[in-house]
Amino acid sequence: MSTSDIRVRFAPSPTGFLHVGGLRTALYNHLFARHHGGRTILRIEDTDRSRYVEGAVENLLDTLEWAGITFDEGPRNGGPYGPYIQSERTELYRQHVDQLLAEGKAYRCFCTPEDLERSRNRQIEAKQDASYDRTCRSLSESEIREKLESDCSFTVRLKVPLLGTMQFTDLVRGEISVAYEVIDDQVLLKSDGFPTYHLANVVDDHHMRVTHVIRGEEWLPSTPKHLLLYDCFGWDAPQFAHLPLLLNQDRSKLSKRQGDVAVEDYRAKGYLPEALINFVALLGWNPGDDRELFTLHDLERDFTLDRVSKAGAVFDIDKLQWFNAQYVRSLPAETLVNICQPWLAEAGIDTADTARCISITTLLSSYLSLPSDIAPLLRPFSSSPIIIDDAESRDILDSEISRQVLRDFLAKAKAPGEWTAPAIKAMISDIQKESGIKGKALFGPIRIALTGAPHGPDLGTTAEILGRDMCIARAAAQLS
Ligand code: GLU
Repeated sequence: MSTSDIRVRFAPSPTGFLHVGGLRTALYNHLFARHHGGRTILRIEDTDRSRYVEGAVENLLDTLEWAGITFDEGPRNGGPYGPYIQSERTELYRQHVDQLLAEGKAYRCFCTPEDLERSRNRQIEAKQDASYDRTCRSLSESEIREKLESDCSFTVRLKVPLLGTMQFTDLVRGEISVAYEVIDDQVLLKSDGFPTYHLANVVDDHHMRVTHVIRGEEWLPSTPKHLLLYDCFGWDAPQFAHLPLLLNQDRSKLSKRQGDVAVEDYRAKGYLPEALINFVALLGWNPGDDRELFTLHDLERDFTLDRVSKAGAVFDIDKLQWFNAQYVRSLPAETLVNICQPWLAEAGIDTADTARCISITTLLSSYLSLPSDIAPLLRPFSSSPIIIDDAESRDILDSEISRQVLRDFLAKAKAPGEWTAPAIKAMISDIQKESGIKGKALFGPIRIALTGAPHGPDLGTTAEILGRDMCIARAAAQLS
């Protein structure tokens, strides 16, 4: 195969939101295709009408675009093998079901939900695995005709071989073999005339010329059924790669109960798409060395399926925060100001003064994992008076030695001279030289008086941004 023949698809069901596992599947498909010069398809699998959620498709597409993943073919931009929404392709599935029926590879099942329930209960009582008991597989032509004439509703099921084993190679999991006897006679067409996932998925992967199916491990049990269908239609099957499960910290399957699973929740919390992509890329794939920071472009260059592991990948939120902090810190100053705009405004900082806002956010950027972390750090920069209410800080300020430091600071601040971070630092070291007070005893009271807190970013830069007048006013307020 020449590399440009590679075609992959991301085939989500629009059930409401994009799961982080879905984002990883979309990303790996994207990376595999870009690495090999292939094409990507987005296909919406919406044949389960009972799970349909209004607006879910748009939300899904927007979220993927936000994350930087776009597709060569799909519902938004079309393509040569559309439509790319399964509910618009039902006629095609019906034709294929008719073909299988005509060739005796599938059969109509007239069992009612109550019949199926009864049979299932019998199997459970007999401690057998619950699967379809194949009652309708042996109906005669005349029995079938009779039921059709009396308008009985039916599903269509695949005639799975009763004996033998199916073998295939998964690009991640290696050789897999499954005995036919454990495979149910799968429903292909439901009684509402809509195909099941299995049929529509295979028909579309074939007609959309998909060469590689890269999807989550939860679909591995479906693969033998899909391969059987390829066989029944006489089609070449694509290659399969099943991605490892995403796990909670306690190694259970990633679930909403232990944290957010929707990409949009991370977006709303202020995670940057670059950070989320970098983090998700490493959930199941590794570059083979100790590099951790990857742009999408780096990933496209380096990603190969042979470095995808079989073992489940733990979704470690602390690690995601670490990635986010790296990306927040490397944002251009103007971008960070834009992102932090709501919190700057809320803190009463003049957002029209771009230069000052840039100085503030640049100073604070190394303290941020999420942009919202900036809120409490902005307090010293608002024009409201500083309120010092913690006992420890009050005790420090009330000591005689601190009052002397503040008096010296005030005198020097009022004297003419530059008001820049280096000048302010030089001023503080002059106080040290003249008074012999140093370390915490020197810096503590100045910092607390100016910012209200005993710890914080570089004091000289903070005082420069606050400006001489505000520093004088705040130091004086503690001496009055
Ligand atoms: N529609 C399935 C899903 O929601 C697609 C599975 C597959 O990729 O085959 O994940």
